[in-house]
Amino acid sequence: MFRGVRAFLANHPGSDIMTVAENTGISEDAVMRYVRDGRISMGIEKGLVQINCEICGVLISQGRLCKPCSDKLSSGLKKSIQEENKKVIDEQQKQGPRMYTADHWRDRGR
Ligand SMILES: [Zn+2]
Repeated sequence: MFRGVRAFLANHPGSDIMTVAENTGISEDAVMRYVRDGRISMGIEKGLVQINCEICGVLISQGRLCKPCSDKLSSGLKKSIQEENKKVIDEQQKQGPRMYTADHWRDRGR
């Protein structure tokens, strides 16, 4: 069913949701769900499907978030992961040599 929607849109770019539903034989709700899932995109001109960004509410043509918001979201996630990794590496670097040194000197002292 989904492949039919894609094929129809490929041949009729910029169709509105009713046209897509009528010509592919699936419900408008189902077409809407594909658009919301970001599996298809549609124009945002008058009469065509319009979707709002879930964060800032700007009109978008596919997915759930506008480009700036999804960029912000993914770079925010990436940053916190990087910081987490850096913390672990810092700890290892701080502890590693110091522990080795302490053992080293203790062994020599025996
Ligand atoms: Zn947004």
